[in-house]
Amino acid sequence: MAAIKCENCGKMISDKGKTCPYCNIPLALPKKKSVFPKWVVVVISLVLLAASISFVAYSRYQYKQKRINENFDFSMRMISGDLFRMAQKSDLIVVEINNAWREAIFSETNKRDFNEAIVDVKESRSEDIKELIKLSASIEKSLKETVIPEGKQLQFDKIKEFYLLEFSKNSAGHYSQYVR
Ligand SMILES: [Zn+2]
Repeated sequence: MAAIKCENCGKMISDKGKTCPYCNIPLALPKKKSVFPKWVVVVISLVLLAASISFVAYSRYQYKQKRINENFDFSMRMISGDLFRMAQKSDLIVVEINNAWREAIFSETNKRDFNEAIVDVKESRSEDIKELIKLSASIEKSLKETVIPEGKQLQFDKIKEFYLLEFSKNSAGHYSQYVR
């Protein structure tokens, strides 16, 4: 029990009473002292706030990385499928070009002009050639637009190199020389 001064009448009274025994005015409840000083509460709040902000940011980052990886895998599967179809179509055309070449060079009885034979191949395989051009454009678009996740650069380079070596419009002996 401690003695305090009544704010109304100025007499010394007990701090346990609810009213002043002299003037009967209600006494203010004693203020409870906080367990922690104010600055500790502020610091803890700031630390918690920073932690929750970085948790949200990290979750978002992880989600984004996951999406980038999924899109990359999907894109690589699409390109592989397109490459496989290109290889099939190219084979059909190459077989006919080889036949035309053999006839032009080696045939004794049925000799044909190679350039004429190539025109025939272009006509008979025009749908396949259209499909090849479409597949090629699709692959080039995918290669350009694919976002490469960390650690996947090598995989991307390999598939791109394969496309450029096997199907590039500049590579020697490629179908596209006859497609023009
Ligand atoms: Zn009083």
